[in-house]
Amino acid sequence: MRKYVYNLYLIVIVLCIPVSCSDSKKQKSVKVSQEPLVLKKHSIEDTLIDSRYTFEEAVAGSRAPQHIIDRLELIDVTYLSVDGKIHKGQVLANREIAEDLVYLFDFMLARQFVVEKVIPIVKYNWNDSLSMADNNTYSFCYRNPTYSKHAIGMAIDINPRFNPLRWKSGNLPNEPQNGIRDTTLNGTFYPGHPVVDEFANRGFRWGHTFSKYYDDHHFEKNK
Ligand SMILES: [Zn+2]
Repeated sequence: MRKYVYNLYLIVIVLCIPVSCSDSKKQKSVKVSQEPLVLKKHSIEDTLIDSRYTFEEAVAGSRAPQHIIDRLELIDVTYLSVDGKIHKGQVLANREIAEDLVYLFDFMLARQFVVEKVIPIVKYNWNDSLSMADNNTYSFCYRNPTYSKHAIGMAIDINPRFNPLRWKSGNLPNEPQNGIRDTTLNGTFYPGHPVVDEFANRGFRWGHTFSKYYDDHHFEKNK
């Protein structure tokens, strides 16, 4: 724990170097900000835990073959949630993108980008619809590997309810169906958004560019 707190402080200190760390910055603000977030000591101590699985618990019940399970890693991430508080969750992802995800979650936290919750999908009994409707962020969920990078943990869905999949034709419902896109709401992506651009900088493709639908919550990377 001490090492984690120290690392978090280190990140904050590094991020503070280019700008002045103003005391007037409102910690509870959930507005999108270009300014780095200054975490006060009590906000770190008050961190809320959304997910505390062991690796074995996080993969329990998956139909994935062992050679895919062997490529996964359970990653601790910290984020600003919709309640304006700092939360800690976990991403079960391919270890090939573990470093990217740690960096990108630090990037989102530093810019006060809201992520509601990050919990391995085992909590939702491997049901993508239930996880999406709950606005949960996750990576690995085994399914047909030929059409989904989630099957090998090389994709991540972020805030699906704020960034629903929208079909380009056919008048089909959004996925999740309770998803509402409001780009003025913190936690919502749009072209040119700093988080979208940072995913692109790390080699991820954004689902907004897919041919049949705008999969705005989805980012994926090739090996
Ligand atoms: Zn996805």
